[in-house]
Amino acid sequence: PPALSAERLVKHYGSTIAVAGLDLFVRPGEVVGLLGPNGAGKTTALRMLAGILRPTSGRVRIGGVDMAERPLEAKALLGFLSGDTQLYQRLSPRETLQYFGRLHGLSEARLTARIDELVRDLEMASFADRPSATLSAGQKQRANIARAFLHEPQVLILDEPTNALDVLSGRFIVESIRKERAKGRAILFSTHIMSEAEYLCDRIALIHEGRVVDEGEVPALCARA
Ligand code: ADP
Ligand code: ADP
Repeated sequence: PPALSAERLVKHYGSTIAVAGLDLFVRPGEVVGLLGPNGAGKTTALRMLAGILRPTSGRVRIGGVDMAERPLEAKALLGFLSGDTQLYQRLSPRETLQYFGRLHGLSEARLTARIDELVRDLEMASFADRPSATLSAGQKQRANIARAFLHEPQVLILDEPTNALDVLSGRFIVESIRKERAKGRAILFSTHIMSEAEYLCDRIALIHEGRVVDEGEVPALCARA
């Protein structure tokens, strides 16, 4: 089965139809980009897929587990990075990761080793023990990425992971996502930047007014665009 799937996903806000029957799947080891302009419904769709927003209708499955029926089990299989992910200002990235690692139920020994690994791989050594309030935007986003990767989830859902970052910070995040794909993770991320989607994705789904309007492998899709 796919690692992640959405079937006829719908979200209404009053009379606004934010997501209008979205069908999507991501296989293990695959990176799929949800590409569309502001207001297309990307954030709403990803929040429903991550199990933090209840769909008006439709079905989400993570690793075959139905999000509506077994939400805790489904959510344990995924890591989510949202545009409004906040670090606790007075905690350092290391303390933040310890806090969330305990929520995920990692043992203290495993957690310490995993945090050391993330600090090394995401090159966070120079700021891992500083209060988050003192960090740059690029440093904060690395810490947020570390939080999404922390429990080594099979599925990663990343909402505009490079948004509002300088070019070097953005490239660092993109490379870290490529390394997760090499580990066999299924990755769904949103962007409004075509070149980023082109560079990173195996497939792109173009979203417009809450629907996937075209979907395919990158060369074929670019030839049609
Ligand atoms: P994107 O992430 O592609 O920019 P969004 O999912 O944020 O798109 O928004 C899709 C549509 O839903 C927009 O018209 C937006 O104004 C509307 N919308 C999003 N969140 C809410 C909300 N909480 N209440 C009302 N309307 C919303
Ligand atoms: P490749 O490394 O596969 O040869 P290129 O470096 O030629 O690819 O870039 C292909 C496209 O992806 C270009 O539009 C480029 O701007 C974009 N791109 C390249 N590297 C990155 C990156 N790290 N992050 C975002 N976009 C990138």
